[in-house]
Amino acid sequence: MSALIDFFYIISAILFIFGIKMLGSADTARRGNLISSIGMLLAVVATLLNGKVFVSWPWIVGGLVLGAVIGAVAAQRVEMTEMPELVALFNGSGGLASMLVGVAEHAKGATTLDNFTQAVLIITVLIGSVTFTGSVYAWGKLSGKLDGKAKVFEGQHKINAALFGGVVVAGALYVLLPSNPFLLWMLLILAAAASLALGWTGVMPIGGGDMPVVVSLLNSLSGLAASAAGFVIQNNVLIVAGCLVGASGLILTIIMCKAMNRTLWNVLFSGFGATESSSGTQEGEMKPATIEDAYYVLEAASSVVVIPGYGMAMAQAQHAVKELGTLLEENGTEVQYCIHPVAGRMPGHMNVLLAEADVPYEQLVEMEDVNPNMPMVDVAIVIGANDVVNPDALDDEGSPLYGMPIIRAHEARTVYALKRGKGRGFSGVVNPLFLRENTRMLFGDAKDTISALVTEFKDT
Ligand code: NAP
Repeated sequence: MSALIDFFYIISAILFIFGIKMLGSADTARRGNLISSIGMLLAVVATLLNGKVFVSWPWIVGGLVLGAVIGAVAAQRVEMTEMPELVALFNGSGGLASMLVGVAEHAKGATTLDNFTQAVLIITVLIGSVTFTGSVYAWGKLSGKLDGKAKVFEGQHKINAALFGGVVVAGALYVLLPSNPFLLWMLLILAAAASLALGWTGVMPIGGGDMPVVVSLLNSLSGLAASAAGFVIQNNVLIVAGCLVGASGLILTIIMCKAMNRTLWNVLFSGFGATESSSGTQEGEMKPATIEDAYYVLEAASSVVVIPGYGMAMAQAQHAVKELGTLLEENGTEVQYCIHPVAGRMPGHMNVLLAEADVPYEQLVEMEDVNPNMPMVDVAIVIGANDVVNPDALDDEGSPLYGMPIIRAHEARTVYALKRGKGRGFSGVVNPLFLRENTRMLFGDAKDTISALVTEFKDT
């Protein structure tokens, strides 16, 4: 029986790996998700077959049904823009689950455990705790239940350093001190309490806009906690799955930091967004255009690049954007869509929205490919994007965005920028693109503006 269960575990681990690989491309992502889910089902079934590991069927079935119902309802109801906060909650649940596994194993008899198991047990509890409260705070910030601004106050770093020190010392003593049940309980509670506090205070100085990076890092931590829990209960598939989550979360965190040209240290400790930045070139005036003007220019254009950003998600303009793209193509215009890696508020945000509107993958072009050809592009339509097209990132060393790779929309012959008003982007800096000679502003909600352009195309 044990050989059969190990065989099932190996198959599930293989399915997880293939599933994650397939998540890397939009056209295979759905199948990747399904394959990973099958792997998870197999792992759960194999674990249940292993009669040693569970206490009683009513608890197991009750837990399965409750978890499945909560998961299914949450996934059905969530809006695309609320996805990061749902992921934050899932990470928090993962952290809490690992923490509880650690506490349960401790309660079963911490004094009988060898040093290695004690070490992985305390690591499970500590990482699980920090992930739990950090994720709940991230969820609060993203959902607007807590103030999304970075909260910075005097002595904050010292408090966090002291909490971290407390976690390390209590954790080390848990493993090193002689096995006295009362002392071990005290150390476990102390270390867990400091970890829970650290999760909360650690996320406090990070602004709402940086939450996707934090959520991705917490995702990685929830994987590490699960992997450590796997060592505690000697479950191979939990070790493998936890490592996969830990590694992929960390890779995603690094990708996001690179695309913003910021270090993880800067994201976690700089208090970015705590104060309004006044940086940015402010000379010149925005030049508004009418829908009619824009229609005539677009009608005559032979190439158009559409650059979506967070405002497109806010306006839910993706279907109107696709309709406009189709009309332009029918008019003989070459239409391409270029998505910046950190456009929107989570990785792949714009890709998912454009896929939802059935924009063909072949029309998506990489930033590196489109930038050299930008001077030959007749019109760049910037839809609710701001920071990702800010030219100061290229040449203003004082800008917080300096060094971030951008889509060079400003080099197109004409730029139409769609936004509601003079609002700044996530970074809070002025964007000189909107003041340039070749840029015309189409003010208003992006969906209304695009729909008006569609109507103009249909009626004229
Ligand atoms: P952005 O810089 O946040 O700018 C969004 C723009 O959309 C704003 O200027 C706003 O201007 C406009 N807007 C909002 N609602 C709108 C509506 N209904 N209709 C039309 N326009 C609307 O967006 P971005 O260019 O996509 O850049 C993303 C930013 O988020 C980057 O700074 C990136 O570093 C950061 N970030 C992204 C991720 C990620 O994973 N994607 C993670 C962390 C941080 P108005 O108010 O004037 O309308």
